[in-house]
Amino acid sequence: MVPTSSTPNVKTIAERLTDVRIRIENAAANAGRDASEIGLIAVSKKQPTAALEAALTAGQCDFGENYLQEALPKTEALTATAQTVSPIWHFIGDIQSNKTADIAAHFDWVHTLDRAKIAHRLSEQRPSNALPLEVCIQVNIDQEASKSGVSPDQCAELATIVANLPGLRLRGLMTLPEPRDDFAAQRVPFAELARLRNELNGAGHILDVLSMGMSADLEAAVAEGATHLRIGSAVFGSRPE
Ligand SMILES: *Cc1c(COP(=O)(O)O)cnc(C)c1O
Repeated sequence: MVPTSSTPNVKTIAERLTDVRIRIENAAANAGRDASEIGLIAVSKKQPTAALEAALTAGQCDFGENYLQEALPKTEALTATAQTVSPIWHFIGDIQSNKTADIAAHFDWVHTLDRAKIAHRLSEQRPSNALPLEVCIQVNIDQEASKSGVSPDQCAELATIVANLPGLRLRGLMTLPEPRDDFAAQRVPFAELARLRNELNGAGHILDVLSMGMSADLEAAVAEGATHLRIGSAVFGSRPE
């Protein structure tokens, strides 16, 4: 009989995090970039609190959540267990008006802002003792009917509104492109988002963030200048349904 291990081929979250960090370092080296300027947000939607705690213990501080109801107990639990490092919370899901107060109170970043009304509410509801909420505008780069985000030609107008709201700090742009198989094709929408950011900076904004790249396309995103990767399954394994 061949001896079997109790957990055959199952990697721990710490091991997966190491693998992802190595992918980022290799991608940065290939792009002639410094890996330290590329942030990793562990996307923990549908993952139990224990999985986030394992990631935090392995040194992962930034977490991305899509669903407010699911996220709130996790933010509470992790803030309580965090010792030397505090978790940083990124909201990356669709935002309904009735959720803005909780998002403004419990998150550090919002990556999915796509309407003026939500921007005004988040700014007004940001607690006065907190720093402004860090914000990215979500751009529907492939102009898909099913997806949230402003179209590229509406981006400048929303950027100006957000930049003038006291409770928000406009940091950059975010996108979730249509999946593409090969590296060259994956780069196209990311290059487009980077071009849009440069255009806004040329018009007087100071946007330093490009939130783009997931488990399947992080190398292409890094090649096009991503500063924040949002990685779920490569860190936590496949998501429970
Ligand atoms: C789920 C999700 C991710 C992570 O996707 P993976 O393919 O699991 O890495 C990133 N960004 C957003 C907005 C998501 O909803």
